[in-house]
Amino acid sequence: MTINDAHCHFFSSQFFSALASQRATEETVSELCRHLQWDDPREADVLAERWIGELDAHNIGRAALMASVPGDELSVAEAVAHHPTRFVGFFMVDPSQADAPDRTRRAIDALNLRGICLFPAMHHVPLSDDRVTSVVEIAASRPGVAVFVHCGVLSVGVRAKLGLPSRFDLRLGNPLEVSTLALNFPDVPFIIPHFGAGMLREALMAADVCRNIYLDTSSSNGWIKYTPGLTLEAVFNAALAVAGASRLLFGTDSSFFPRGWQKKIYETQKAIVERSGISAADAALIFRGNFERLFPAAG
Ligand SMILES: [Zn+2]
Repeated sequence: MTINDAHCHFFSSQFFSALASQRATEETVSELCRHLQWDDPREADVLAERWIGELDAHNIGRAALMASVPGDELSVAEAVAHHPTRFVGFFMVDPSQADAPDRTRRAIDALNLRGICLFPAMHHVPLSDDRVTSVVEIAASRPGVAVFVHCGVLSVGVRAKLGLPSRFDLRLGNPLEVSTLALNFPDVPFIIPHFGAGMLREALMAADVCRNIYLDTSSSNGWIKYTPGLTLEAVFNAALAVAGASRLLFGTDSSFFPRGWQKKIYETQKAIVERSGISAADAALIFRGNFERLFPAAG
């Protein structure tokens, strides 16, 4: 079965260069990557080809690639432009920046990107803020655009590895606030990654009251440690019972090379879904069909 991955990060040169500037060292991108023992991504088209090789090697049809620092839309846009049938472009938006609405419009209308990614805990802007509404309104007037909202615990591995501070305000990433937005914009699909990353109950409540909220299954979901005894299997079963197979999006949260696509996450989740007893058709929705419905392949 061909699968789609709804959650990958496009760690471009611009992404690393933003990190390097936050470190206030004179490091170049390749020095920073050497420090991390990661591969230098080089130009966006080179990184895009590397991703294509990865998708082909693992029989993955399409993947959402996220520009993982505000202002890096062009990198992902280049990957999408080269492979519009394989990549769906997501981009991080910081609503506290005055040019956020303009950048968002340009990313969608001119650069063909499809997912607006909000990280309220990182950017310190509550989801109830008018500046967030201004960005979501742009999605509302453009069918085919989804809003991804990171909720719950937020740890950015590469920041920790580089000793960069992460002053995230976790109070701001509550799935219940996504439900308010989702009720106000019922035609916009909202994606909450990692089952709410520690706020499973709230994510399920939000998904239960809003048909336009989707949960992504990505990452190792290490947050389950916050609930004693919780297993990923129980998380899947609860999500299937509340949101149903038609609103779960498989994802891995793959990001850097040489590690590449995280096959183990797929294998673990595939086994869990098989054990859940849902039909093959429902399983196909999680691993492929829902992604196709939200982001139809460019004709
Ligand atoms: Zn991620």
